[in-house]
Amino acid sequence: MVSSHELVSLKHEIQKNISLYINGEFTKAVIGTTIKNMNPFTNERINEVAEGQSEDINKAVAAAREAFDHGPWKTMKLKKRMEYIYRIANLIDEDIERIAYLEALDTGLPISQTRNMVSRASENFRFYARMVESRLVGDAYQVDDEFINYTINAPVGVAGLITPWNAPFMLETWKLAPALATGNTVVLKPAELSPLSANLLAEIIHKADLPKGVFNVVHGYGETAGDALVKHPDVQLISFTGETTTGTTIIKNSADTLKSCSMELGGKSPIIVFEDADFDRALDACVWGIYSFNGERCTANSRLFIQESIQAEFIKALKQRVENIKLGDPLNASTEVGPLIDKGHYNKVKSYLAIAHEEGAEVVSGDIPNEFEKGNFVAPTLILNASNNMRIAQEEIFGPVLTVMTFKDEDEVIKLANDVDYGLAGYVWTNDIKRGHRVAHKVEAGMLWVNAQNVRDLRTPFGGSKSSGIGREGGHYGFDFYTEQKIIHVSIADHRIQQFGKN
Ligand code: NAD
Repeated sequence: MVSSHELVSLKHEIQKNISLYINGEFTKAVIGTTIKNMNPFTNERINEVAEGQSEDINKAVAAAREAFDHGPWKTMKLKKRMEYIYRIANLIDEDIERIAYLEALDTGLPISQTRNMVSRASENFRFYARMVESRLVGDAYQVDDEFINYTINAPVGVAGLITPWNAPFMLETWKLAPALATGNTVVLKPAELSPLSANLLAEIIHKADLPKGVFNVVHGYGETAGDALVKHPDVQLISFTGETTTGTTIIKNSADTLKSCSMELGGKSPIIVFEDADFDRALDACVWGIYSFNGERCTANSRLFIQESIQAEFIKALKQRVENIKLGDPLNASTEVGPLIDKGHYNKVKSYLAIAHEEGAEVVSGDIPNEFEKGNFVAPTLILNASNNMRIAQEEIFGPVLTVMTFKDEDEVIKLANDVDYGLAGYVWTNDIKRGHRVAHKVEAGMLWVNAQNVRDLRTPFGGSKSSGIGREGGHYGFDFYTEQKIIHVSIADHRIQQFGKN
């Protein structure tokens, strides 16, 4: 862990201007304009970021295309390619403190949480190195005495990766590792609100000395740079994480060039607490699941369904916890909730508190200490007396706001939990093992946890159903997305061939 003295020195290292990274070089944007990168805690400028647009995307895609078609990356010996991947992992480990610091500074996420999050990033690379080494196996089919058919896994081409601001480094590496390990080349368009750690990723990859053009970063806005990447005919696939509405736009815009799309989208996930649950553990998990990462978490348990018989006690305990949550400077190690990413998002989250009032719910939230008035703080909030048809129970707020509802029995809560457009995650708390499984099977979501908070294993599938996404990331699901399976048919005898035109 770094001391406050070291934090100051990290601060001095922040570059005034952040460049794009194209064809192995750090470069300005063609148009030459920049985006002001703001600090969510002070609302002062951190630095300026090159604003990439379609010209820059064209350059980056051309570099990635050239590297894919004619460079050594996809054809080099697997052992050598994996050496690069392990080198990236080692370089990330060497820079963990800096990455955690940049991430907290840039996003407002508390540094104790960014440390945990980024410490998993190097494992993304090691995991996919191991996976590719073990998974480059195909199927073989004997076809009578005439053919032997077999499959191979080939890289797809140029991968376009588009990422959000809420867990930038983790999500970028989570996509980049399988894309590179399987032999693709990449253009990354990181979120415009959190460019610092993506820039550090480019520095790390530059240090790892990957062949030119294999990895490119174009900062810029979604509607310009992101859009150009999505529509580019030389890009074969798009892996996107972000809002559901953005996802649907991307699917439409990628249709003309027929790209494969992996979509990790929004959520409004239920946590269901039955009266027989382990009260204290369910309470801990519920509070952590909504207020960690400032509530800006796709898998946040933002809808609590608590069984009527224990509602009074549970809500009382929740209120006490919420009152005690420590707001503060994201760079302070003891801070539990920091400021939201930017003023726009702050206004959106605040607007939902007004909507809650209008809808007749009760809003319980603490005060923001005066010393933090410059930051984009929304105090941890409970919305009580809510019902499932209200907007606050249906729409993704993406902030530290928990909508609390009650239920009578299992049938009712399953109906309520599923009566929502999203289907990313769900959490079930009960000590009745049969009921735990039963409810988990019936909740419409891609990922369920029973008597657990959101603990993940890299081998398992990650993704949502309904409006929360298409496809899965993680494990071999990532491998499958970034590879094209080919079948090779080889004749081992003289099978009959039609003789058209022969007299
Ligand atoms: P966003 O959709 O606004 O932006 C995500 C990325 O898409 C950014 O890089 C943005 O510049 C780009 N973009 C925007 N418009 C585009 C367009 N027309 N064409 C191409 N690119 C475009 O999302 P956000 O606000 O950055 O992130 C928060 C959202 O992400 C929440 O909804 C959250 O639930 C979701 N999320 C989902 C997961 C998951 O795994 N399911 C994980 C993290 C975040």
